[in-house]
Amino acid sequence: MSDEVKCDKSPCDKFTAINELARRRGFFWNSYEIYGGAGGFVAYGPLGTRLKQNIENKLRELFVKQTGILEMESSVITPGKVFEASGHVDHFKEPMVECVKCNRRFRADHLLEEYAKISCVQAEKMTLKEVQAALEENGVTCPDCGGGFRAPQQFLTMFTTTIGPYSGATGYGRPEAAQGIFVEFNRLYSAAREKLPFGVIQIGHALRNEISPRQGLIRLREFTICDLEFFFDPEEPSCHLLKEVETEVLPMLLCDKREKDCEDITNFTVREALDKGVIHSEWQAFFMAMAKRLLTEIGVPAEKQRFIEKLPWEKAHYSSQSFDQEVLLDRYGWTEVSGHAHRTNFDLGCHMKASGTDMIVFKEYPNPVETEQLTVKPVLAKLGPVFKKDAGKVGELLAKADPKTVEAALKKDGFFMVEGFKVLSEQVQIAPQKVVVRGRHFVPHVVEPSFGSDRLFYVALEYAYGIKEDRVVMSFPRSIAPVQVGVYPLMSKDGLAEKAQEIRKRLAEAGFMVEYDEAGSIGRRYARADEAGIQLGITVDYESLTQDTVTIRDRDSWQQVRSEIKALPELLYSYFQRKINFEDLGTLVKC
Ligand code: AMP
Repeated sequence: MSDEVKCDKSPCDKFTAINELARRRGFFWNSYEIYGGAGGFVAYGPLGTRLKQNIENKLRELFVKQTGILEMESSVITPGKVFEASGHVDHFKEPMVECVKCNRRFRADHLLEEYAKISCVQAEKMTLKEVQAALEENGVTCPDCGGGFRAPQQFLTMFTTTIGPYSGATGYGRPEAAQGIFVEFNRLYSAAREKLPFGVIQIGHALRNEISPRQGLIRLREFTICDLEFFFDPEEPSCHLLKEVETEVLPMLLCDKREKDCEDITNFTVREALDKGVIHSEWQAFFMAMAKRLLTEIGVPAEKQRFIEKLPWEKAHYSSQSFDQEVLLDRYGWTEVSGHAHRTNFDLGCHMKASGTDMIVFKEYPNPVETEQLTVKPVLAKLGPVFKKDAGKVGELLAKADPKTVEAALKKDGFFMVEGFKVLSEQVQIAPQKVVVRGRHFVPHVVEPSFGSDRLFYVALEYAYGIKEDRVVMSFPRSIAPVQVGVYPLMSKDGLAEKAQEIRKRLAEAGFMVEYDEAGSIGRRYARADEAGIQLGITVDYESLTQDTVTIRDRDSWQQVRSEIKALPELLYSYFQRKINFEDLGTLVKC
């Protein structure tokens, strides 16, 4: 019996094998099967739901508990105005072509990548005209029927709806959870006791009307997104948690290499990446390091992870610097699992402008500063005779005006227009004045790590998947195993089942995720448990009745130890907290 769980080398690839296993064992399957299915939607079964929750909780543990980040929830359906303001209505589009024969629609850039071997880097840069020319030059036709294509068009990938019975009240299914955070900034800032920096995470469903989703969990039309918006003062951008990750190595594929179609990785520690200016923001570097830890904790070795820097035309419309975290997958190669964008103050700025609501924060200086500032002083004696009853109002407007703008207008035109009033040079004075400044007003900047939990889930399945002695073993890291302990009576007679149920109850009460199984031979039960990724198996045998001991079996090594029943809760607690190893659970049993 070999200890090691080996990767599948069978001709059917891991993606197919995992999808088959997932359906059979209830991890996940395509939704609406009884109606013929609907592409891009999945249902998670009992094992999958738990695994997904465990992954999301791992993310919470690293990003929420360890960093003091706040969590919120907002609605999926969003008034049109929000996504008009954020730029999504104009930009959240993909190039699409339609077959002239069968009318099926495809993502044009994906066709170019697959059938014309034009890299996604090149394809994403192309205009619609260039896309059309490239499809024609490379003879790309409909993959389903061989037909030609109509002229490509941009397809808005947000789901559109109407809110209530009014056809004019356009709403969108949110394609990201971030805007739900930005629009609530003022209340969240107040919940954070009006102190920067602070972060807010939202884990919830996102909708994207993907043109042709054919990659299982990798590309869904409804998926769970985990958007973390971290707000900070651009003049105080240092990250007080950086020490904790400074030595973490980030494998990076940078723009200069990507532009030459070169895939060479450079390894930088977080500290080096910042010192060399490879990553501009300390907070962004911190979250990238945490993202690497998250992926490592869900089972992806460091050498199967990398960060790619987004090229200027690949970056989202709001981003000043972006990286994608990628994981190497069996069928799809390097695949994005999280995005890391420096969104500057773009989003808050857009919502301020469109809604008319201030989202400016005030940061008080430790000591007020006395300085000289240009001020606009209305000369009331001159305003009165000209503006009569409006003189007071014009005076107020002038006092609020930006001195530099007024000065420039007077210099250039000899007058300054304010709300339709024409103010001449002699009616206003612009002069330096001593003022006490108590603090600064500004719009916070934002860095955002954004994960898709369905992709994390698929990645965890692929990296857990292995074959041992022709059987599937799902070797999840112990902290995310969907079931921690299986309890099995050797026989269902002679009081063994009752004893096993007693142990199940005691462990469930102690907070473990436990499953009881008495169906079939013990070998079949172990095999079922291995496929489900159940970390430990407790077998209740005749000795359990007389000695109050059980065997504990390890899913990956298939080794067994014998332990006292009364010690189980404490031992298992230490084991799942990674304080002890399997061998420390009891005395090794020879199988
Ligand atoms: P994005 O906003 O496009 O950077 O997406 C953020 C994260 O969401 C990505 O890193 C993916 O993990 C995930 N994601 C994006 N689109 C999809 C999709 N169609 N299906 C599943 N996950 C997705």
